[in-house]
Amino acid sequence: ATPTAVTVGIGRGAELGILVKNGEALEISEKLTTVLFDKTGTLTKGKPEVTNIIGTATDDKTLLYIAASVEKNSQHPLAEAIVTKARDNDIKLSDSEGFNTFAGKGVFATVNGKSILIGNRTLLMENNVEIVDDDEEMISKLEEEGKTAVLVALNNAFSGILGVADTLKENTPMAISELKKMHLEVAMITGDNPRTAEAIARKIGIDQVMAGVLPEDKSAEVKRLQDKGKVVAFVGDGINDAPALAQADVGIAIGSGTDVAIESGEIVLINDNLLDAVAGVQLSEKVMGRIK
Ligand code: ADP
Ligand code: MG
Repeated sequence: ATPTAVTVGIGRGAELGILVKNGEALEISEKLTTVLFDKTGTLTKGKPEVTNIIGTATDDKTLLYIAASVEKNSQHPLAEAIVTKARDNDIKLSDSEGFNTFAGKGVFATVNGKSILIGNRTLLMENNVEIVDDDEEMISKLEEEGKTAVLVALNNAFSGILGVADTLKENTPMAISELKKMHLEVAMITGDNPRTAEAIARKIGIDQVMAGVLPEDKSAEVKRLQDKGKVVAFVGDGINDAPALAQADVGIAIGSGTDVAIESGEIVLINDNLLDAVAGVQLSEKVMGRIK
């Protein structure tokens, strides 16, 4: 490879707000087979909102109150959505004790002497909370709408569901269709459940979905694709996915994401615009075309 073309490519990228930290990334980009996107904060805005409050064994207001009293200890975007909803409804929150986080599953704490579990099916099942068919039906309905069902158990009894929706970034569908036009495989990875993930994927034209993946397993999923001979670009914001960014053949970090994303990525998108991820891949094709 002639270094000049790579240097020109890096310069052109910088003009477009695409920071190429490592010239090699441009050379690999041309061999890409697969672009894997993190969902939350990458394809979606990562600023979810509570859209449904369904108390089953308690009234809706109490459900929101206990959930928010626990979640005010968590930095997770879902937690922020729940706390914001409680504040918007002028609900006064209580202090909690024994707060604990289970990455990719949910949270636990005690409020007013009652133990509260909040999270996904896995978390509730691991704690032997029974989910009856009627509850499951409501959960599935929310998930079919692309919402995340946050489940709440009070003293280990299922007590209600909070439906939370995250909005797609404006350019997400266009970025996906551009990549598909370039004959790249486009996939999505998330800790969210398969039904929610697939509903969102369908909306934006992504056919391959890896759902229910724990934060620590995301990089192993990238490795699994590589072992199958795929050359993988991973696009992420660094929340839960920095090891995956590092494992990928090309890590593309959303610059508005975390510092660790910027450190882990070979390409950093200065603007929060997924079309720049497409431009980055196209840039490498131009550069490599000039080298050959
Ligand atoms: P993502 O991969 O979409 O960024 P995470 O791995 O952070 O998602 O979380 C996966 C799932 O774990 C969430 O969809 C949610 O069901 C559950 N979860 C994680 N943290 C919390 C929390 N603080 N409150 C409720 N549920 C949570
Ligand atoms: Mg994420």
